[in-house]
Amino acid sequence: MTSAVVVRGLWKRFGQQIAVAGIDLELPAGKFIGLVGPNGAGKTTTLSMVTGLLRPDQGSVEVVGHDVWRDPVEVKARIGVLPEGLRLFERLSGRELLAYSGRLRGLPGAEVDKRATQLLDVLDLAGAQHKLVVDYSTGMRKKIGLAAALLHNPEVLFLDEPFEGVDPVSAQTIRGVLERYTASGATVVFSSHVMELVESLCDWVAVMAAGRIRAHGPLIEVRGAAPSLQQAFLELVGAHGRDAGSDLDWLGGGAR
Ligand code: ATP
Repeated sequence: MTSAVVVRGLWKRFGQQIAVAGIDLELPAGKFIGLVGPNGAGKTTTLSMVTGLLRPDQGSVEVVGHDVWRDPVEVKARIGVLPEGLRLFERLSGRELLAYSGRLRGLPGAEVDKRATQLLDVLDLAGAQHKLVVDYSTGMRKKIGLAAALLHNPEVLFLDEPFEGVDPVSAQTIRGVLERYTASGATVVFSSHVMELVESLCDWVAVMAAGRIRAHGPLIEVRGAAPSLQQAFLELVGAHGRDAGSDLDWLGGGAR
């Protein structure tokens, strides 16, 4: 099995807060990989370190055989990233943003134009291509960010919560593009809280909680005997059977 990503002893602290507590992880190439975990588990911090956006306190990360922190240019040429809280150039139109991203990646202008037209079309953004990005909706922003991340045909694509704030129609479109992309041998790594989505899309998952990897491997193995990934996840992160409402005896019932 070739690995797209190899993480060794990765740590990150923010003051007293340990965000990532020494994780080891090997993500296989050519798979649709889900990184799941509750709020604050350390998913964004991990993805930021893996993609060269945040320097780890300790540990190493290799992406497609290159060390992210020793060889950042090699790695960045081979990956695409849709980060959390994506910041875009708001005063460019969608098409201009793609033209700019393509040129930054060193693609010839004619090739950028061709790929941009196809991506805008497939992602249902052709009608909004001349609109400024500042006027895009949340879902449209995710889609133009995804187009920019795919334009240079990366070997590995990292997506932080790609479906958050995206309507079902756009989600289906994004899903179709990602499925086509992995079918060609590329790797997708994405973080999500939505277990049904991870279960239906991914063939490989890593479950994170409190800065550690609790389980990782093929979806079927991680799900084990549980009826769904959601159940397996709740058991793994220790939230199974907790009655979240038991202390809120004042809530509801009309009494003030
Ligand atoms: P969510 O699903 O809610 O986005 P997450 O799994 O992506 O959560 P992270 O954003 O990686 O989690 O955060 C992990 C922990 O690190 C949290 O306790 C968070 O408060 C803390 N943290 C993350 N970034 C910073 C920062 N820049 N400064 C201080 N603490 C941080």
